[in-house]
Amino acid sequence: MKPAQRLQGIELSLIRQINALATPLSTNLGIGEPNVEPDETLRDFARRAAATASWHYTPNAGSPALRKLLAGSTWDPKSEICVTAGTQEGLFAIFQAFVDPGDEVLVPNPGFVSYATLARLCGAAPVTYDIEPPEWRLEANAILSKITTRTKLIVVNSPSNPLGAIVDAGALQAIAAAGPLVVADEIYREIWYDAPPPSMRGMSENVIVVDGMSKSHSMTGLRLGWIMARAELMKPIVTAHQYVATCASAFSQSLAEMILSDAAWNAGWLERVRAQFRTQREAALYAIERELEAKLAPPAGAFYAFAPVPTCDTLYLCRALATDAAVLVIPGIAFGSLGEGFVRISFAATVEEIGTGIERMGRYLRALGQ
Ligand code: PMP
Repeated sequence: MKPAQRLQGIELSLIRQINALATPLSTNLGIGEPNVEPDETLRDFARRAAATASWHYTPNAGSPALRKLLAGSTWDPKSEICVTAGTQEGLFAIFQAFVDPGDEVLVPNPGFVSYATLARLCGAAPVTYDIEPPEWRLEANAILSKITTRTKLIVVNSPSNPLGAIVDAGALQAIAAAGPLVVADEIYREIWYDAPPPSMRGMSENVIVVDGMSKSHSMTGLRLGWIMARAELMKPIVTAHQYVATCASAFSQSLAEMILSDAAWNAGWLERVRAQFRTQREAALYAIERELEAKLAPPAGAFYAFAPVPTCDTLYLCRALATDAAVLVIPGIAFGSLGEGFVRISFAATVEEIGTGIERMGRYLRALGQ
Protein backbone atom coordinates (compact mmCIF):
# COMPACT_ATOMS: atom_id res chain seq x y z
CA MET A 1 0.00 0.00 0.00
CA LYS A 2 1.43 3.37 -1.01
CA PRO A 3 1.36 6.09 1.62
CA ALA A 4 -0.53 9.28 0.81
CA GLN A 5 1.17 11.72 -1.55
CA ARG A 6 1.42 14.34 1.19
CA LEU A 7 3.93 12.12 3.01
CA GLN A 8 6.19 11.76 -0.01
CA GLY A 9 9.73 12.79 0.84
CA ILE A 10 8.84 13.11 4.52
CA GLU A 11 10.69 10.81 6.91
CA LEU A 12 11.33 10.58 10.62
CA SER A 13 13.63 13.47 11.51
CA LEU A 14 17.43 13.09 11.48
CA ILE A 15 17.28 13.63 15.25
CA ARG A 16 15.27 10.42 15.62
CA GLN A 17 17.59 8.65 13.18
CA ILE A 18 20.72 9.56 15.17
CA ASN A 19 19.06 8.71 18.49
CA ALA A 20 18.19 5.28 17.05
CA LEU A 21 21.96 4.54 16.95
CA ALA A 22 22.19 4.73 20.77
CA THR A 23 23.63 1.71 22.61
CA PRO A 24 23.87 1.12 26.38
CA LEU A 25 27.43 2.51 26.19
CA SER A 26 26.50 5.75 24.43
CA THR A 27 26.71 9.13 26.07
CA ASN A 28 23.65 10.91 24.80
CA LEU A 29 24.08 14.61 24.09
CA GLY A 30 21.45 14.41 21.35
CA ILE A 31 18.44 14.73 23.59
CA GLY A 32 15.87 17.49 23.41
CA GLU A 33 14.36 17.10 26.85
CA PRO A 34 15.38 18.34 30.28
CA ASN A 35 17.34 16.06 32.64
CA VAL A 36 15.51 17.59 35.59
CA GLU A 37 13.74 15.16 37.91
CA PRO A 38 10.37 16.09 39.41
CA ASP A 39 10.73 17.18 43.05
CA GLU A 40 8.48 15.98 45.91
CA THR A 41 5.95 18.77 45.37
CA LEU A 42 5.61 18.04 41.66
CA ARG A 43 5.18 14.32 42.40
CA ASP A 44 2.62 15.24 45.05
CA PHE A 45 0.70 17.38 42.52
CA ALA A 46 0.74 14.38 40.15
CA ARG A 47 -0.58 12.06 42.86
CA ARG A 48 -3.34 14.53 43.66
CA ALA A 49 -4.19 14.93 39.98
CA ALA A 50 -4.36 11.14 39.61
CA ALA A 51 -6.67 10.91 42.64
CA THR A 52 -8.97 13.80 41.80
CA ALA A 53 -8.85 14.63 38.06
CA SER A 54 -11.83 13.81 35.88
CA TRP A 55 -11.48 10.82 33.55
CA HIS A 56 -13.79 12.45 31.04
CA TYR A 57 -13.27 14.71 28.05
CA THR A 58 -12.66 18.33 28.89
CA PRO A 59 -14.00 21.02 26.53
CA ASN A 60 -12.00 20.90 23.26
CA ALA A 61 -10.13 24.10 24.10
CA GLY A 62 -9.21 22.82 27.57
CA SER A 63 -10.49 22.94 31.13
CA PRO A 64 -11.92 26.40 31.98
CA ALA A 65 -9.84 26.62 35.17
CA LEU A 66 -6.54 25.99 33.37
CA ARG A 67 -7.45 28.38 30.56
CA LYS A 68 -8.13 31.08 33.13
CA LEU A 69 -4.71 30.58 34.71
CA LEU A 70 -3.00 30.70 31.31
CA ALA A 71 -4.92 33.74 30.09
CA GLY A 72 -3.72 36.16 32.79
CA SER A 73 -4.86 39.67 31.96
CA THR A 74 -3.81 39.54 28.27
CA TRP A 75 -6.30 37.02 26.87
CA ASP A 76 -9.95 36.04 27.16
CA PRO A 77 -9.93 32.53 28.68
CA LYS A 78 -13.19 31.63 26.92
CA SER A 79 -12.15 32.43 23.36
CA GLU A 80 -8.39 33.07 23.20
CA ILE A 81 -6.70 30.03 24.78
CA CYS A 82 -6.55 26.45 23.50
CA VAL A 83 -4.84 23.75 25.57
CA THR A 84 -3.17 21.14 23.34
CA ALA A 85 -1.53 17.71 23.56
CA GLY A 86 1.93 19.32 23.51
CA THR A 87 3.28 22.23 21.51
CA GLN A 88 3.81 19.98 18.50
CA GLU A 89 0.07 19.26 18.29
CA GLY A 90 -0.59 22.98 18.71
CA LEU A 91 1.69 23.78 15.76
CA PHE A 92 -0.03 21.09 13.66
CA ALA A 93 -3.49 22.54 14.44
CA ILE A 94 -2.34 26.10 13.57
CA PHE A 95 -0.90 25.00 10.22
CA GLN A 96 -4.04 22.97 9.44
CA ALA A 97 -6.18 26.00 10.30
CA PHE A 98 -4.44 28.53 8.03
CA VAL A 99 -2.06 27.05 5.47
CA ASP A 100 -3.30 26.16 1.95
CA PRO A 101 -1.58 24.47 -1.00
CA GLY A 102 0.50 27.08 -2.82
CA ASP A 103 1.07 29.22 0.29
CA GLU A 104 4.53 30.07 1.57
CA VAL A 105 5.58 29.65 5.18
CA LEU A 106 8.72 31.45 6.40
CA VAL A 107 10.85 29.19 8.60
CA PRO A 108 14.24 29.74 10.30
CA ASN A 109 17.48 28.32 8.86
CA PRO A 110 18.89 26.85 11.03
CA GLY A 111 15.64 26.03 12.84
CA PHE A 112 13.52 23.37 14.52
CA VAL A 113 12.87 20.50 12.11
CA SER A 114 9.05 20.43 12.36
CA TYR A 115 8.18 23.77 10.81
CA ALA A 116 9.10 22.98 7.19
CA THR A 117 7.48 19.55 7.40
CA LEU A 118 4.23 20.97 8.79
CA ALA A 119 4.15 23.39 5.82
CA ARG A 120 4.73 20.55 3.33
CA LEU A 121 1.96 18.47 4.92
CA CYS A 122 -0.42 21.32 4.01
CA GLY A 123 0.87 21.38 0.42
CA ALA A 124 2.62 24.70 1.07
CA ALA A 125 6.23 25.71 0.36
CA PRO A 126 8.55 26.33 3.29
CA VAL A 127 10.74 29.36 2.50
CA THR A 128 13.75 29.72 4.74
CA TYR A 129 15.10 32.90 6.29
CA ASP A 130 18.74 32.97 7.35
CA ILE A 131 20.20 33.30 10.82
CA GLU A 132 23.95 33.80 10.57
CA PRO A 133 26.90 32.59 12.67
CA PRO A 134 28.73 33.24 14.89
CA GLU A 135 26.17 35.28 16.90
CA TRP A 136 23.06 33.68 15.36
CA ARG A 137 21.33 37.04 15.77
CA LEU A 138 18.03 37.24 13.89
CA GLU A 139 17.75 40.49 11.91
CA ALA A 140 14.11 41.38 11.18
CA ASN A 141 15.11 42.22 7.64
CA ALA A 142 16.10 38.59 6.96
CA ILE A 143 12.37 37.87 7.32
CA LEU A 144 10.87 41.08 5.90
CA SER A 145 12.85 40.66 2.66
CA LYS A 146 11.32 37.20 2.12
CA ILE A 147 7.65 38.24 2.42
CA THR A 148 5.61 37.89 -0.80
CA THR A 149 1.89 38.01 -1.57
CA ARG A 150 1.86 34.25 -0.95
CA THR A 151 3.35 34.38 2.56
CA LYS A 152 0.73 32.92 4.91
CA LEU A 153 2.71 32.35 8.11
CA ILE A 154 6.00 33.45 9.61
CA VAL A 155 7.44 31.12 12.26
CA VAL A 156 9.69 32.63 14.94
CA ASN A 157 11.35 30.52 17.63
CA SER A 158 12.96 32.35 20.55
CA PRO A 159 14.86 31.04 22.48
CA SER A 160 15.85 28.89 19.54
CA ASN A 161 16.30 25.18 19.10
CA PRO A 162 19.07 24.49 17.99
CA LEU A 163 20.84 27.86 18.45
CA GLY A 164 19.96 28.90 21.99
CA ALA A 165 19.71 32.46 20.62
CA ILE A 166 17.12 34.97 21.84
CA VAL A 167 15.50 37.42 19.40
CA ASP A 168 15.46 41.01 20.68
CA ALA A 169 12.21 42.91 21.25
CA GLY A 170 12.82 45.36 18.40
CA ALA A 171 13.14 42.58 15.82
CA LEU A 172 10.06 40.82 17.23
CA GLN A 173 8.04 44.04 16.97
CA ALA A 174 9.09 44.57 13.35
CA ILE A 175 8.08 40.99 12.50
CA ALA A 176 4.74 41.31 14.35
CA ALA A 177 3.95 44.47 12.36
CA ALA A 178 4.97 43.03 8.97
CA GLY A 179 1.47 41.85 7.95
CA PRO A 180 1.31 38.05 7.70
CA LEU A 181 0.27 35.83 10.60
CA VAL A 182 3.14 35.09 12.98
CA VAL A 183 3.54 31.89 14.98
CA ALA A 184 5.80 32.53 17.97
CA ASP A 185 7.11 29.21 19.32
CA GLU A 186 8.03 30.15 22.89
CA ILE A 187 8.45 26.66 24.32
CA TYR A 188 11.90 27.58 25.76
CA ARG A 189 10.68 30.87 27.27
CA GLU A 190 11.43 29.82 30.87
CA ILE A 191 14.91 28.45 30.09
CA TRP A 192 17.11 31.56 30.08
CA TYR A 193 20.43 32.55 31.69
CA ASP A 194 20.91 36.31 32.02
CA ALA A 195 17.53 37.94 31.37
CA PRO A 196 14.06 36.60 30.48
CA PRO A 197 13.50 36.57 26.71
CA PRO A 198 11.00 39.08 25.30
CA SER A 199 7.69 37.43 24.40
CA MET A 200 5.54 38.13 21.34
CA ARG A 201 2.38 37.92 23.50
CA GLY A 202 0.15 40.86 22.74
CA MET A 203 2.54 42.44 20.20
CA SER A 204 -0.14 42.49 17.47
CA GLU A 205 -3.50 40.98 16.52
CA ASN A 206 -1.59 38.76 14.04
CA VAL A 207 0.49 36.90 16.59
CA ILE A 208 -0.27 33.32 17.61
CA VAL A 209 1.83 32.13 20.57
CA VAL A 210 2.54 28.45 21.29
CA ASP A 211 4.06 27.30 24.55
CA GLY A 212 3.93 24.30 26.86
CA MET A 213 5.28 22.45 29.88
CA SER A 214 7.60 19.97 28.14
CA LYS A 215 10.77 21.98 28.73
CA SER A 216 9.89 24.14 31.74
CA HIS A 217 8.58 21.28 33.88
CA SER A 218 10.28 18.24 32.34
CA MET A 219 6.85 17.02 31.21
CA THR A 220 7.69 15.86 27.68
CA GLY A 221 5.79 12.59 28.09
CA LEU A 222 2.67 14.18 29.56
CA ARG A 223 1.88 16.13 26.38
CA LEU A 224 0.72 19.49 27.64
CA GLY A 225 0.92 22.67 25.59
CA TRP A 226 -1.22 25.66 24.71
CA ILE A 227 -1.96 28.26 22.07
CA MET A 228 -2.80 31.92 22.66
CA ALA A 229 -4.37 34.05 19.92
CA ARG A 230 -7.11 36.58 19.32
CA ALA A 231 -10.62 35.11 19.14
CA GLU A 232 -11.10 35.14 15.33
CA LEU A 233 -7.78 33.38 14.82
CA MET A 234 -8.51 30.90 17.58
CA LYS A 235 -11.83 29.66 16.15
CA PRO A 236 -10.42 27.65 13.20
CA ILE A 237 -7.49 26.52 15.36
CA VAL A 238 -9.84 24.93 17.91
CA THR A 239 -11.74 23.25 15.06
CA ALA A 240 -8.52 21.73 13.68
CA HIS A 241 -7.39 20.76 17.20
CA GLN A 242 -10.71 18.96 17.79
CA TYR A 243 -10.04 16.64 14.85
CA VAL A 244 -6.46 15.89 15.92
CA ALA A 245 -6.71 15.46 19.66
CA THR A 246 -10.31 16.15 20.86
CA CYS A 247 -8.73 17.60 24.00
CA ALA A 248 -5.45 17.39 25.90
CA SER A 249 -5.19 14.72 28.63
CA ALA A 250 -7.47 15.62 31.54
CA PHE A 251 -4.81 14.35 33.97
CA SER A 252 -2.09 16.56 32.46
CA GLN A 253 -4.42 19.55 32.44
CA SER A 254 -5.23 19.03 36.10
CA LEU A 255 -1.51 18.76 36.93
CA ALA A 256 -0.77 21.96 34.98
CA GLU A 257 -3.56 23.71 36.89
CA MET A 258 -1.97 22.74 40.23
CA ILE A 259 1.46 23.90 39.06
CA LEU A 260 0.24 27.30 37.91
CA SER A 261 -2.00 27.77 40.98
CA ASP A 262 1.00 27.53 43.31
CA ALA A 263 2.84 30.58 42.00
CA ALA A 264 5.46 30.63 44.80
CA TRP A 265 6.43 26.98 44.33
CA ASN A 266 6.45 27.41 40.54
CA ALA A 267 8.76 30.44 40.66
CA GLY A 268 11.19 28.49 42.88
CA TRP A 269 11.04 25.44 40.63
CA LEU A 270 11.85 27.51 37.53
CA GLU A 271 14.78 29.15 39.36
CA ARG A 272 16.14 25.70 40.28
CA VAL A 273 15.73 24.48 36.69
CA ARG A 274 17.63 27.51 35.38
CA ALA A 275 20.36 27.07 38.01
CA GLN A 276 20.88 23.43 36.97
CA PHE A 277 21.08 24.34 33.28
CA ARG A 278 23.44 27.24 34.06
CA THR A 279 25.90 24.78 35.64
CA GLN A 280 25.51 22.36 32.74
CA ARG A 281 25.95 25.17 30.19
CA GLU A 282 29.22 26.17 31.86
CA ALA A 283 30.44 22.56 31.75
CA ALA A 284 29.52 22.29 28.05
CA LEU A 285 31.23 25.56 27.07
CA TYR A 286 34.36 24.61 29.02
CA ALA A 287 34.56 21.17 27.40
CA ILE A 288 33.84 22.55 23.92
CA GLU A 289 36.66 25.07 24.29
CA ARG A 290 39.11 22.48 25.63
CA GLU A 291 38.22 19.51 23.44
CA LEU A 292 36.87 21.07 20.24
CA GLU A 293 38.96 24.26 20.39
CA ALA A 294 35.91 26.42 19.81
CA LYS A 295 35.01 29.43 21.94
CA LEU A 296 31.25 29.86 21.66
CA ALA A 297 29.17 32.86 22.59
CA PRO A 298 27.18 31.42 25.52
CA PRO A 299 23.65 30.47 24.39
CA ALA A 300 21.23 32.93 26.03
CA GLY A 301 18.40 30.40 26.37
CA ALA A 302 17.31 26.75 25.87
CA PHE A 303 19.85 23.96 26.52
CA TYR A 304 21.80 23.55 23.31
CA ALA A 305 25.28 24.55 22.18
CA PHE A 306 25.67 24.79 18.41
CA ALA A 307 29.35 24.04 17.96
CA PRO A 308 31.46 24.24 14.80
CA VAL A 309 33.26 21.06 13.66
CA PRO A 310 35.96 20.74 11.00
CA THR A 311 33.93 18.84 8.41
CA CYS A 312 31.35 19.68 5.79
CA ASP A 313 29.44 16.41 6.20
CA THR A 314 28.08 16.50 9.72
CA LEU A 315 25.55 13.74 9.07
CA TYR A 316 28.42 11.36 8.27
CA LEU A 317 30.37 12.65 11.27
CA CYS A 318 27.46 12.24 13.70
CA ARG A 319 26.74 8.70 12.48
CA ALA A 320 30.44 7.86 12.96
CA LEU A 321 30.51 9.51 16.40
CA ALA A 322 27.48 7.41 17.38
CA THR A 323 28.85 4.09 16.16
CA ASP A 324 32.63 4.52 16.69
CA ALA A 325 32.92 6.97 19.60
CA ALA A 326 29.72 6.17 21.53
CA VAL A 327 28.54 9.76 21.70
CA LEU A 328 25.30 11.10 20.26
CA VAL A 329 25.09 14.66 18.94
CA ILE A 330 22.83 16.00 16.19
CA PRO A 331 24.20 17.07 12.79
CA GLY A 332 23.59 20.75 12.06
CA ILE A 333 22.25 19.88 8.61
CA ALA A 334 19.17 18.42 10.36
CA PHE A 335 18.15 22.04 11.05
CA GLY A 336 18.74 23.46 7.56
CA SER A 337 21.54 24.24 5.12
CA LEU A 338 23.12 26.94 7.32
CA GLY A 339 23.53 24.35 10.07
CA GLU A 340 26.07 22.39 8.02
CA GLY A 341 29.50 22.50 9.65
CA PHE A 342 27.96 22.56 13.15
CA VAL A 343 26.62 19.98 15.58
CA ARG A 344 23.93 20.47 18.22
CA ILE A 345 25.24 19.44 21.60
CA SER A 346 22.46 19.19 24.18
CA PHE A 347 23.57 20.05 27.69
CA ALA A 348 20.42 18.53 29.17
CA ALA A 349 22.76 15.92 30.66
CA THR A 350 24.81 15.58 33.84
CA VAL A 351 28.12 17.46 34.08
CA GLU A 352 29.83 14.08 33.98
CA GLU A 353 28.02 13.01 30.81
CA ILE A 354 28.76 16.37 29.19
CA GLY A 355 32.48 16.00 30.01
CA THR A 356 32.66 12.39 28.82
CA GLY A 357 30.66 12.98 25.63
CA ILE A 358 32.60 16.04 24.48
CA GLU A 359 35.91 14.39 25.39
CA ARG A 360 34.96 11.43 23.18
CA MET A 361 34.14 13.86 20.35
CA GLY A 362 37.47 15.62 20.79
CA ARG A 363 39.44 12.37 20.80
CA TYR A 364 37.64 11.15 17.66
CA LEU A 365 38.17 14.43 15.79
CA ARG A 366 41.86 14.60 16.77
CA ALA A 367 42.39 11.03 15.49
CA LEU A 368 40.65 11.98 12.23
CA GLY A 369 42.94 14.98 11.80
CA GLN A 370 46.14 12.92 12.12
N1 PMP B 1 9.10 23.54 19.42
C1 PMP B 1 10.42 23.41 19.64
C2 PMP B 1 11.34 24.52 19.23
C3 PMP B 1 10.92 22.24 20.24
O1 PMP B 1 12.24 22.11 20.45
C4 PMP B 1 10.02 21.21 20.61
C5 PMP B 1 10.48 19.92 21.26
N2 PMP B 1 11.72 19.46 20.90
C6 PMP B 1 8.65 21.40 20.35
C7 PMP B 1 8.24 22.59 19.77
C8 PMP B 1 7.62 20.37 20.69
O2 PMP B 1 7.45 20.24 22.07
P1 PMP B 1 6.24 19.47 22.76
O3 PMP B 1 5.37 18.91 21.68
O4 PMP B 1 6.86 18.41 23.61
O5 PMP B 1 5.50 20.51 23.57
